Amino acid sequence: MNTDIEIAQQATLKSIDEIAAELKLSKEDWEPYGHTKAKLSDKLLKKLESKPDGKIILVTSINPTPAGEGKSTVTVGLGQALNKIDKKAIIALREPSLGPVMGMKGGAAGGGFSQVLPMEDINLHFTGDLHAITSANNALSAMIDNHIHRGNELNLDPRRIEWKRVMDMNDRALRQIVVGLGGPLRGVPREDGFNITVASEIMAILCLATSLDDLKARIANIVIGYTYEEEPVTVSDLKVEGALTLLLKDAIKPNLVQTIENTPAIIHGGPFANIAHGCNSIMATKTAAKLGDYVVTEAGFGADLGAEKFLDIKSRAGNFETDAVVIVATVRALKMHGGVAKDNLTTENVEALKAGMENLKKHIETIETYGLPFVVAINKFPADTKAETDFIESWCESRGVEVALADIWANGGEGGIQLAEKVIEKAESAERDFKRIYELEDTLEAKIRKIAQTVYGADDIELSPKAKKQMVFYEKQGWGKLPVCMAKTQYSLSDDPSLLGRPEGFTITIREMRPSIGAGFIVVLTGDMMTMPGLPKNPAALKMDVSNDGKILGLF
Ligand code: ADP
Repeated sequence: MNTDIEIAQQATLKSIDEIAAELKLSKEDWEPYGHTKAKLSDKLLKKLESKPDGKIILVTSINPTPAGEGKSTVTVGLGQALNKIDKKAIIALREPSLGPVMGMKGGAAGGGFSQVLPMEDINLHFTGDLHAITSANNALSAMIDNHIHRGNELNLDPRRIEWKRVMDMNDRALRQIVVGLGGPLRGVPREDGFNITVASEIMAILCLATSLDDLKARIANIVIGYTYEEEPVTVSDLKVEGALTLLLKDAIKPNLVQTIENTPAIIHGGPFANIAHGCNSIMATKTAAKLGDYVVTEAGFGADLGAEKFLDIKSRAGNFETDAVVIVATVRALKMHGGVAKDNLTTENVEALKAGMENLKKHIETIETYGLPFVVAINKFPADTKAETDFIESWCESRGVEVALADIWANGGEGGIQLAEKVIEKAESAERDFKRIYELEDTLEAKIRKIAQTVYGADDIELSPKAKKQMVFYEKQGWGKLPVCMAKTQYSLSDDPSLLGRPEGFTITIREMRPSIGAGFIVVLTGDMMTMPGLPKNPAALKMDVSNDGKILGLF
């Protein structure tokens, strides 16, 4: 069996100007970035404003195994399948982070015959957006330390600086550090730390901004820390929003590429879904909706994380409709939810599958609560047996749930035609009564409780003393009307990664909160969520290489 990179290397890519011509883009709408990538103008969305929107299809999933359940793969495969049946579809995806690429999760450019290309670029440095975000984030850190060193006119309390440095790597050694050591010429010592770039507020801002002006206004609102009197200090107090926006002037432009079957794909922004809001940029999704009849887009991890944030944060900020949802389920993850150990997932086990269906059932109920039409897509893996996929199909059919077996990894768009037809039917149907889980007028506590009880199935929430204090303070600052961005493990519906299936009788512990006022939400940390992951014992990097003639090996 060929690996993803081997399949990718055999593909014939169209030149990016052909893809741009197919989308009827004119010269000022895009600029080439090599032969197979382009940057779309940040003015394009405004230019297309009066055009009607295509249908927006959100791809989400059950709680995944550590390897991922193929949401990106299904997103790409479904886009390709729609094009195969002569629908004008565009894919909108996130940009991968180097941390998971080098670590455990692998790439995020799809897989098999449903990939976005050039996958080696997309998975590595791509068009430099993540580096620009890292630079903007760290420029702000440097400005903060310089400000304190130069006399600290703003009276910033070095013990209350919330802004962290970032780097796009899993590097646990940098979680907590002390900067400014070495005497008066080296600055003022203070505790600091690194987050992964995809957890940076600047990443979230880039993904929610709709123009350079909006980007600048949001950056100006970032709260970097507090004074000795505990008053918030923002980027606008430091007067560096202009410089930070300048560093992002190209990163804000969505990236245009193509799939293995030459379907256009816009890949832009990539916040994690467990510690951030988990969706590609609003500009990418909305531009795709203007250029195509169908947009297939993904939100990270399970419906408890990505879809909740897509529907409660992103589509609210972007003011757009979601027309249908695809819930990706896999035999292997359902067996894991039914109690099978990670190493035995390739052995047929219909009994375990049956027990694991409870996890899918909960996510179906969640999407039903939002009032959106949906299709369950069984992402077929090579080890799945017919008895297993038949079981999931009949389980769904007996409950009146639309289901399709998607063989898009092995067969590309051809393997997703049934799914595409069912998705079109749902997206065009009138069965829609969209309601969000919470209203902005709800208090922060009420918002968190509604998500925990409705989406996670928790009995209640429990606030740590720190979170309680923060909640009172945030409400007092006028931040109480913002949406909440939950940071929770992706493996379980609860905040305990070991509770698989459909846990019951649990409480969600709210450890602390962080204000992301520029992004426009309050991050709520549950359990032991880390904003800087670590590498596993055998990182994916151990398999990677490049030969002297430039051939890439081991990139999945
Ligand atoms: P997600 O978006 O849910 O995190 P991905 O689409 O990135 O998942 O897929 C995770 C990994 O699993 C990728 O390496 C991909 O190639 C692989 N994969 C996805 N679907 C299949 C499949 N049907 N068969 C085999 N491998 C698959």
